[in-house]
Amino acid sequence: MKFALSEVGRHWWKGNLHSHTTISDGRAEPAAMVEHYRDAGWNFLAITDHRTFGFHESLQGDAFLVLPGLEGDINPDVGTHHVVALGDASWREKHGRPYQSPQAGENVGQALLDSLGAEQALTMYCHPVWSRREFADIENLQGFSLFEIYNHGCEYGNRTGLAVLYWDSLLRRGRKVWGTAVDDSHSMEGDSLGGWVMVRSDHLTTDGVLAALRAGHFYSSAGPEILEWAVDGDEVYVQCSPVCSIHFVAWEPHGRSVHAEPGQRLTEAVYRRRGGEGFVRVECVDSKGRTAWSNPIFFAEA
Ligand SMILES: [Zn+2]
Repeated sequence: MKFALSEVGRHWWKGNLHSHTTISDGRAEPAAMVEHYRDAGWNFLAITDHRTFGFHESLQGDAFLVLPGLEGDINPDVGTHHVVALGDASWREKHGRPYQSPQAGENVGQALLDSLGAEQALTMYCHPVWSRREFADIENLQGFSLFEIYNHGCEYGNRTGLAVLYWDSLLRRGRKVWGTAVDDSHSMEGDSLGGWVMVRSDHLTTDGVLAALRAGHFYSSAGPEILEWAVDGDEVYVQCSPVCSIHFVAWEPHGRSVHAEPGQRLTEAVYRRRGGEGFVRVECVDSKGRTAWSNPIFFAEA
């Protein structure tokens, strides 16, 4: 088996898949949010206001893409699920329309995913820890391809942004869901510019970015860069910006961590497969404790 993230597209595009503006409960206008992200070096932003279809084509520039989006939720008094939907060109007519979430019934979380999936959307399950969801509450939900493993706004606001353990639990059950780091920004302050995806694709277009997200051709980060993520036969390889630790997380056996000597930094590491791994993914952690997460590479024989 041979795979190299750098070879699935010609460019890296940096983006935030989850944000709010004055259209819902955010504090900045859509145009100001776009300018904020563009000025900070981001290439794209999904504007995902609560229960409102967003198609902000007029805010796009030559080198900046605004993805169509919205965030749906269910009534908090029956426990909450939040799901971001990323739309495509078919959303042009829907801009500004309210989205009606399903609000009652036995399996309302699944109903929400089904309802958003029916809107020609790529769906992302959001911040399960902030939502106070146990793993059992999400284990059987189907129909989402993306899963927030790091929600910066939740982490910044009340330390509920990290959901990597839930992600691994899904992966160990054979679910092929890709992990995302996002901002869920409601302002241009501390809840923004802290979690992003780096998408590998030829073109900075809605179709190009959505196709790469569906295929898992991206990594997530709150700091470090992953320059290459590859498998060649039994060797899994990562190259990254200087970090203190590189962790290969596998199912199963137990993976392996590599640590830099004191005062030194690592910029690459290799994991040699022992056989039987269902997947291997990598986490690169820098001197400030910030992480970059690759998506898993799946192996068929497990
Ligand atoms: Zn949100």
